[in-house]
Order: sequence, then C-alpha cells, then structure tokens
Amino acid sequence: MKRNTIYLPVFCIVLSMILICVPVMAEGRGGGDGSGMGGGRNIDIASISAGLLSLKFILGGISALAGLILLRTTKINRNIRTLLMCVVFVLFGVLVIMRQPSPLEAVVDPITALATGGTITLKKATMLVFIGGLSVIGAKLFCGWVCPFGALQEIINRIPEQAPFGKKIKLPFKISNGIRISIFIISLVMVITIGIDIYTYQGILNPFELFDWHFELVLAVLVGAVAIASVFVYRPFCHLVCPVGLLTWLLEYLSIFRVRLNQGRCNDCKRCIRESPCPSVKAIVDGDKLRPDCFACGVCIDACPTNALAFEIWKPGANKKSD
Ligand code: SF4
Ligand code: SF4
Repeated sequence: MKRNTIYLPVFCIVLSMILICVPVMAEGRGGGDGSGMGGGRNIDIASISAGLLSLKFILGGISALAGLILLRTTKINRNIRTLLMCVVFVLFGVLVIMRQPSPLEAVVDPITALATGGTITLKKATMLVFIGGLSVIGAKLFCGWVCPFGALQEIINRIPEQAPFGKKIKLPFKISNGIRISIFIISLVMVITIGIDIYTYQGILNPFELFDWHFELVLAVLVGAVAIASVFVYRPFCHLVCPVGLLTWLLEYLSIFRVRLNQGRCNDCKRCIRESPCPSVKAIVDGDKLRPDCFACGVCIDACPTNALAFEIWKPGANKKSD
C-alpha cells in the first residue's frame, strides 16, 4: 500500500479509538457513574456486557443481524428495505425507545464529560459500545438498521420516487462532511469554553427528543426541516449534522463487512450510481480513497445487473482502480 493511501485509514482508526475510549477516560476522571443510572456500579467491561443484554440492545442486535444476512444473501430490495425501515422506526422509535440515552447523547456526553471533568452514565457507555461494535462488524449497521431517526429520514426519502420539483439531490460529500465536522468542532469548542454542547443545548440539534414525545417548538421546527429536506436529500441530518454519523463514518474504515466491487463483473453501466440515493456508491465504483457514508441500504447491490457489488469482508486494496 502506498504511503499516501494509508494516511486516511490510520487517521480514522486513531480517531475512532480515541472516541471509543472516551467513556472509559471520562469515567476515570469522573470517578463514578454519577447519575445513578448505573446503580452505583463502576463502568467496566462486566457492567457494559450486562447492559448489552437488555431488551433494547438484543432487539437492536437482531435487527442489525437481519440486515447483515439480507445484504450478504442479496435478498434486499427497495420494497423490503422500506418496509423494514418502518419496522425499525416503530420498534426502536415508538416501542423500544432508543432515547434514554439517545445515540446522539451517547456520543456527545462522554466528550463533554471528558472535557469538563464530569461523569457519564453506564447506559450511555453501553450505548456507545453498542454503536461502535455494530459499526465495526458491518459498515453503519447501527445507523442503517437500528437508528429510528435514520429510518424516518429514509422512509420519507424513499416513498416518493421523484422529488416534487425535479431530481433528488446527492450532496457533494466534501461539503456535507465539512459542515458536519465544523458543527462538531464548534460544539467541542463550546464544551471546552462554556461546558455545553451545541447538539443537546435546548435540544436545538437533537431530533431524538421526538422519541420522548416532546412537542416543543424548537423540536417541531428541527424535525419539520429534516422531514422536508429528506424528500429531496437522502438522510440529510445524518450527512450534515449527526455526530453519530460522523463517528460511524470514521468506523467504516475499520468495518469488517462493507460494500465491495468485483471489478471483473462490472460492465461500467453505472446503473448502481443512477439508482442509489447516496453519493457513496460512485466513490466505491471509482475506487476513491475518501468514501462518503454508506448506510448499508443495499440499493446498489440490488440495482447491479451483473452482481458486481456485494456486502463482503473487506480486504486491503478492494475497490482499488486497476488503472
Ligand atoms: S447518523 Fe445519526 S440520525 Fe443518522 S442514522 Fe446514524 S445515529 Fe441516526
Ligand atoms: S453505497 Fe449507497 S446504495 Fe449502496 S448500500 Fe451504501 S448507502 Fe446503499
């Protein structure tokens, strides 16, 4: 592997490891669960393992496993995917609440705790390990197959085949990711200087409040804006704002299973690029080193007439241009 090809994966691996280690480091500084949610126990591997055996995480794991099996066996298609996203929304958004803590708080709060010397809860540490673990097993298995707000955006995007005033938009990844990273950096500066993060402050960037059935104006405006944007853009909140999306995008460089191109089968018809809602499949087909988020939806796999795309174990050099 050329030296310049390993910079990005190495950077992502280091940053991901730091983010995953943050709860433990924050716990070490804070010296306890603090909230009482952990029942006074320290946050260690045993208590996190016990937490992962709760109904929410077992069902989440089953959903991710089902997604992995459907992707591996290429049994996924647009209708099945939309139906399953409805199930994910109802199951994890309405019935088994993915709030308390929300995925967003599970990523943001440990960073705040680390910066301010505060404490984190066992539930948040467990959620963070769950998100990270699934994302390392398969690219975005959490975001693509468990997150109810991601599912809601995808349902809204997928139901109308055409956007009302023309084509659906694929955001240029460097711009969308630049915005997402900028928001994260601004939040980090706010945490360090005034001790609050931009996402959860007054709930201005935390749509997961929806699943707590808070019907406040700020939440209505946020969810309404994301819902309207979702008609035109695939998962706008995930691509532009969500810190969980940022973390799981980095973890994609570690994921065992990812969408891979079999170059020998590809006839360059570009049908996968035309039919996919995301900007990532073009980067996969072109063998780009910088890949936008892949939400493991399976649309490109289903679209390919020669089965050149598959959700397979990643190998170094896979998807690399042969020219
Ligand atoms: S990026 Fe955020 S909102 Fe989107 S699916 Fe992941 S956790 Fe959910
Ligand atoms: S590359 Fe795009 S279309 Fe293919 S599985 Fe990932 S998100 Fe879906």
